[in-house]
Amino acid sequence: MYTRPSNLDDALGLLAEGARVMAGATDIFPGAGESPLRGNYVDVTTIAALRGVRLQGNAVRIGATTTWSDIVAADLPPAFDALKAAARDVGAVQIQNRGTVAGNLCNASPAADGVPPLLILDAEVELASRRGTRRLALDVFVNGARSTLLAPDEVMTAILTPLPASTILPRAKTPRGKSRSARALTSTKAIELPRLATRSISPPETTNRRARIV
Ligand SMILES: Cc1cc2nc3c(=O)[nH]c(=O)nc-3n(C[C@H](O)[C@H](O)[C@H](O)COP(=O)(O)OP(=O)(O)OC[C@H]3O[C@@H](n4cnc5c(N)ncnc54)[C@H](O)[C@@H]3O)c2cc1C
Repeated sequence: MYTRPSNLDDALGLLAEGARVMAGATDIFPGAGESPLRGNYVDVTTIAALRGVRLQGNAVRIGATTTWSDIVAADLPPAFDALKAAARDVGAVQIQNRGTVAGNLCNASPAADGVPPLLILDAEVELASRRGTRRLALDVFVNGARSTLLAPDEVMTAILTPLPASTILPRAKTPRGKSRSARALTSTKAIELPRLATRSISPPETTNRRARIV
């Protein structure tokens, strides 16, 4: 069964009964391969309150169904440039128009483009269920390759990042089909408290963990 609720409470009710969350479905459909989708899905993209970027206190709140194209178009401070660059790198424009930030995090692919820039921004994720709402640091939420602490009856409602004081350098992505070796970021500016986040690095237990250069 496929349901498109217009409010969060109805979605949480369906999740409590065993339905699975669907957003842009750009990971779900390819993941199903040639087989038809089975089970019950609740499409959360019809819940208007879950979409968009806004200030919440001293944090930037990215609603869960905010798409990559929304991120590209959003008025965000320079520290979010790496996130914007990642948004422009996710598939092609058609995928960016459908794929959501939360879907990228919940799918937890080791190659997810959204994870490193959000780790550097000290992002937290907000998770809701009929049992209540909780927040987890992103580096706690994603606890391995394709593994997260999302409970079956939970939906991610937002990603929250404190407004950073510093500037974040653009990310470096190895071009597809070219060398798999790492590329270097260079800067002529002095860097204080540098941070580095990586993806697609094995073994899985080190994936998505933030590294600090000291
Ligand atoms: C052709 C193509 C190219 C791609 N290229 C890239 C790329 O370059 N980089 C990259 O990182 N990704 C890429 N992707 C993967 C995908 O587009 C992204 O990961 C996208 O952000 C997923 O979002 P979605 O809304 O489509 O997720 P969905 O497919 O709807 O969901 C993915 C998973 O997350 C769960 N989920 C979704 N939203 C929520 C929520 N709010 N709460 C709880 N669980 C949720 C779903 O249950 C499912 O398990 C590509 C995909 C395709 C088809």
